[in-house]
Amino acid sequence: MIAPAERPVILVSACLVGCRARYDDTIIEAVDERLVRWVAAGLVLPFCPETAGGLTVPRSPAEIAGGAGQTVLTGNARVYTRAGRDVTTAFVDGARLALDACRHFKLHLAVLKDGSPSCGTTRIYDGRFRGCQVAGQGVTAALLATHGVAVYSEDSLATLKVPV
Ligand code: SF4
Repeated sequence: MIAPAERPVILVSACLVGCRARYDDTIIEAVDERLVRWVAAGLVLPFCPETAGGLTVPRSPAEIAGGAGQTVLTGNARVYTRAGRDVTTAFVDGARLALDACRHFKLHLAVLKDGSPSCGTTRIYDGRFRGCQVAGQGVTAALLATHGVAVYSEDSLATLKVPV
């Protein structure tokens, strides 16, 4: 039996480890076996930037219009719901809280749900609510990466060196 870790070493999108955090209140059932092991070993800090930023479950889907996470952070793009509500502040607040959590626990690694306007590490939706994805990072992924946290998607877990 592995002794629980003294502190987490990976921030993980909460929805990837079975938490109810997604906009549509669904649970991702096919949780990766490696993530299950890391959670059991106490290595994971589950975190949802959008709910941390004050959004509810469920909530309206949102997409970044006119850019990606980095352009939102520089004030040159905004995040809108399908109905046109500007939720940029909640997204930026959530990203900052994720960075605070990484700093507090000295985390240098994050596994984030790809495709999300917050957590996407390689792709996001194109801002037109038509189901098209483009290359780019979400707001939280971009902020963490800018501050030295290595961000990985759930599809690249095999490349991670985690000690269990
Ligand atoms: S992808 Fe990120 S923001 Fe969206 S539900 Fe999962 S943890 Fe929350």
